[in-house]
Amino acid sequence: MTGAEPANPGDRTVAEPAPCLTEEPTGTGPSRCDAGSPGCPGSPGCRNNGGLQHRSHNPTSSPGSGTGTGSGTATGAGGAGQMRPGQVSTQPPTPAPVTPGLADPGPDIVTGARTGTFVALTFHGAGDLALTGRALTVAHDNGATFSVFTVGQWLAANPTVGRDITGAGHDLGNHTWSHQPMTYLNQAEATWGIQLGSDAVSQSVESPGLLFRPSGTPTSTPTIRAAANACGYQRCTSYDVDPLDYTDPGADLVRTRVLAAVQPGSIVSLHLGYPSTIDALPGLLQGLTARGLTCVTLTRLLTAAT
Ligand SMILES: [Zn+2]
Repeated sequence: MTGAEPANPGDRTVAEPAPCLTEEPTGTGPSRCDAGSPGCPGSPGCRNNGGLQHRSHNPTSSPGSGTGTGSGTATGAGGAGQMRPGQVSTQPPTPAPVTPGLADPGPDIVTGARTGTFVALTFHGAGDLALTGRALTVAHDNGATFSVFTVGQWLAANPTVGRDITGAGHDLGNHTWSHQPMTYLNQAEATWGIQLGSDAVSQSVESPGLLFRPSGTPTSTPTIRAAANACGYQRCTSYDVDPLDYTDPGADLVRTRVLAAVQPGSIVSLHLGYPSTIDALPGLLQGLTARGLTCVTLTRLLTAAT
């Protein structure tokens, strides 16, 4: 059970940014960014620190500057250089290396190892801060850790929440700056939104995060992957369990849908902005424990021995 989430699920507290792209993408949804934000065209570039999904690269280079070299690096949208929205690189991206230990060798990370007992709850990070606070409390009370893919605007508008999340031992990843429906973006637009999101995470917790999840689509496309590579992410993170909690089906359905589908190694898609999702968490965590499953961060799930 998977589906493309809406443009800004549960994201009622984030103001719409001012449009600043010269070219609206075709299809649904506007393509916008915050023209006044740090990292808008002229961004200082990624400050990625290497690791699970990131490549280390020159902190002075621009997104997609294509200077990555050596093992474990990707040149991303090589040749994009000083890309601006509307521009498209004519050079193909270098395929990203497959992270060792992953169960799924496909383009996206979909699951961890099926042979262990770990599962990962992953959240679209946006919405009412009180709901995030409740989720952190439930996780603490149940000895669970999870992963939050934050919408950059939300993080920028709430400067302490990133540290609240990582300080409690959870993962903080990038879910773009403004949660555009990414399948409608060209490579330069996608790169821009990913880079802005990376910058927001860096400004919040002094690290750009190891993980990226595209917005508005359950899986990446070649364009999205090239943009993610250009911003230092080796692979995009998807999921194999989706209870469609952003349709607000109620806590019981969120819990029972997850427990019916979850397996060892599962990556579950959830959203912090919905009360029913948060209401489902205690029973969901207890149900996972009863199944012998342990809820861990994505970094732990994906680096666990297979
Ligand atoms: Zn989302």
